[in-house]
Amino acid sequence: MIPIRLHDTMAREKRLFEPADPARITLYACGPTVYNRHHVGNARAAVVFDLLSRMLRHVYGETSLVYARNVTDVDDKIIDAARAEGVEPAVITDRYEQYYLDDMGALGVRPPDIAPHATEAIPQMIAMVQRLLASGHAYQADGHVLFHVPSDPDYGALGRRDREAMIAGARVEVASYKKDPADFVLWKPSAPDVIGWDSPWGRGRPGWHIECSAMIERHLGETIDIHGGGLDLIFPHHENEIAQSRCVHGGAPLARYWMHNGFLTMAGSEKMSKSLGNVVTVGELLEQGHRGETLRLALLSAHYRQPLEWSSQLLAQSKATLDRLYRAAGDAAPGEPDGCVLEALADDLNTPLALSRLSAVENPAALRASAALLGLLESSHEQWFQGEGDARIEDLIAARAAAKARRDFAEADRIRTELAAEGVLLEDSPAGTTWRRA
Ligand SMILES: [Zn+2]
Repeated sequence: MIPIRLHDTMAREKRLFEPADPARITLYACGPTVYNRHHVGNARAAVVFDLLSRMLRHVYGETSLVYARNVTDVDDKIIDAARAEGVEPAVITDRYEQYYLDDMGALGVRPPDIAPHATEAIPQMIAMVQRLLASGHAYQADGHVLFHVPSDPDYGALGRRDREAMIAGARVEVASYKKDPADFVLWKPSAPDVIGWDSPWGRGRPGWHIECSAMIERHLGETIDIHGGGLDLIFPHHENEIAQSRCVHGGAPLARYWMHNGFLTMAGSEKMSKSLGNVVTVGELLEQGHRGETLRLALLSAHYRQPLEWSSQLLAQSKATLDRLYRAAGDAAPGEPDGCVLEALADDLNTPLALSRLSAVENPAALRASAALLGLLESSHEQWFQGEGDARIEDLIAARAAAKARRDFAEADRIRTELAAEGVLLEDSPAGTTWRRA
């Protein structure tokens, strides 16, 4: 069995992955809050943990993994969106969960084994809050139940931030009823016209963090093998999950390995985020005619822990790479994956190395099987190229003109050669480039 090494955020280093039970490996990734269309930065986490799940299943066996990805379907943003439209929250959450599943399907992200919904785990959350109250880690104040951060001496171990940075970084609302500014909400009251559930503390709804702790315990157990999510979830979300779970489980750790993926940036800009207004949604990219598989390859082109700069050039390169790989794979059925590609992925999902090695695989059957580890080349040769008509040729001619304009003559020649191989001949003139079939 090939050894898998994973970078563990808690340990700050790559560690050999040794599951507690190789016959039942447990993986949990924080999933979407369903109130709007998801931008391509959000999709990166889903693609990365889909890749990890494929690797684990390949190495340990198809039935060895239990992968859970939650759906946050109660949240103040959902309540606001429902109010703005004058509908019940479930109308919003059903609609955007379906969009999310469709978008992820287009990206080749397989459904997780379990997709727990927050609204289906309210009794488990209430029970966990009760245990935190009973053990002195939580208190009631002003209709809320709060986790008391100073009650957990190990709080903050994942991000290793000092207390001042955590308080500032959390931008926690300084509410007068909090004993400590870092304390966070486990349960909060709902006004009569707001979604809520009966609880020992009155009608209300859960805070965000408790849902993951309660659903992990319910579906996967007290200590899971791998917990994943985006880098922005380390604090406060994952620190809070860790504190809640450890305090109700007598100190047992929540996860044995913690994995976090980096941000997406828009070319020449900062992190892609809704609040910065520089987002592009998966839906928009698909509507523009990009294929889901092209987006997937683009998302895997950088190592998952590195920032990834999103650009139209990246998409054009990814499309060209897939065209080349589909041509090389032909109609071959998948055989055995190439050992060098597998080795690169087993080294903390080193996708840039895996993709460069993939390009060198000459045997079509091995190429298909190796690509499948990455969730690529899952269409037939015919499916990929069908509908590829004049629009694609025009796109390539435009890409060649852009390459020439930036004096990248190697790329311009490569495009000319690629088209020539398909029997498309280019003729340059002062008025531009025209083409004809040979
Ligand atoms: Zn979570």
